[in-house]
Amino acid sequence: MNFALRHSPLRDLAARVEAGERLTEADALRLFESRDLNALGQLADFANQRRNGRRASYIVNRYLNYSNYCILSCQFCAFSRKKRDADGFELSVSQMVEKAREALALGITELHIVGGLHPSLPFSHYLEFLRALKALDPRLQLKCFTAIEILHLAWLAKKSVPETLAELRAAGLSSLTGGGAEIFRKEVRTAIAKGKESAAEYLDVHRQWHQLGGRSTCTMLFGHVESLADRVDHLRQLRDLQDETRGFTGFIPLPYQPDNNAIPVTTPPTGFDLLRTLAVARLYLDNFEHITAYWVGFGMKMAQLGLSYGADDLHGTIVEEHIFHMAGARTPQLQTEKDLVRAIREAGRVPVQRDTFYQPLRVWEEAAAGAVAAEEFGGAASAGRQQETDQAAG
Ligand code: SF4
Repeated sequence: MNFALRHSPLRDLAARVEAGERLTEADALRLFESRDLNALGQLADFANQRRNGRRASYIVNRYLNYSNYCILSCQFCAFSRKKRDADGFELSVSQMVEKAREALALGITELHIVGGLHPSLPFSHYLEFLRALKALDPRLQLKCFTAIEILHLAWLAKKSVPETLAELRAAGLSSLTGGGAEIFRKEVRTAIAKGKESAAEYLDVHRQWHQLGGRSTCTMLFGHVESLADRVDHLRQLRDLQDETRGFTGFIPLPYQPDNNAIPVTTPPTGFDLLRTLAVARLYLDNFEHITAYWVGFGMKMAQLGLSYGADDLHGTIVEEHIFHMAGARTPQLQTEKDLVRAIREAGRVPVQRDTFYQPLRVWEEAAAGAVAAEEFGGAASAGRQQETDQAAG
């Protein structure tokens, strides 16, 4: 145990983490309530490096929102529009294909596709765009849909959730996204996302996807009206499902953005809150491999710091982000791969380009002269492995 931890009020928890003991909900709450951010960060970094070494990953991906029309009106959401709104949008399949084609030329390995619960598009439309995008390149991984979108699609298809998921997978779906978890406790959910699926429904969609052999990520929207105990309750439910299925590839905490919505919160979470939330997630979610510092919500500078507070992933290049920016995010629309690599390297980590399932595609190494060199698993070998992973996980 190092000096900072030996003299910290958290030293008893540090000893238990070092011994590999699982933390309780009370422990997680104590960590959240601690003001000893350096000790918390060192402990989370220890837990992260024990699992992931000094590697930190990113993905070359593109976001694609097929539409922002939505039949729901979650209070926190600045993205959704009604058909009467002038700034609603809806992409045709050919427009989606065109955007995907441009992004493939930039080297993306993943399209990340979500939208609102569209009032009139039929189920066949979703199958059609999945097939059209997959046809562009069978190696392209399609990470699509939140749990509430899956429930909407099952309702449109008039099929069970597992049948709907199987049909989507056959059309090209590789992985589910983790969006829509918000905060699980019912009172908070009602206050920020009335009408959305319950926590049990969110978890059940992911459970059923995992039981089909699929993988997904999960999230937590924090820093609005929830308490620290609510965050712990949320993390507990994710940890429980992970114990059951081992289907989550990673956890992505999402800092609340305060603009253009109906929640009476005027400031986003502070830097202190961003880092402690990453650190507690790393320590409490002991059955998760990967924790992401999401640069869109954190800002690149805080996300980079997050790599020393338990995170081992910065997410991706993204190219075009709407959801956080319509809610007030001041971050850029995209990051270049070069910027992600530089941020990771500057934080003292080894950059790794990953695929949707966090499998390494390229490990960057420091060259002796300080120049960038890369150990590439690329070319045919990379493509083959990516396809294998897709088939096994998707
Ligand atoms: S959060 Fe999703 S489901 Fe809720 S209003 Fe926005 S787009 Fe619709």
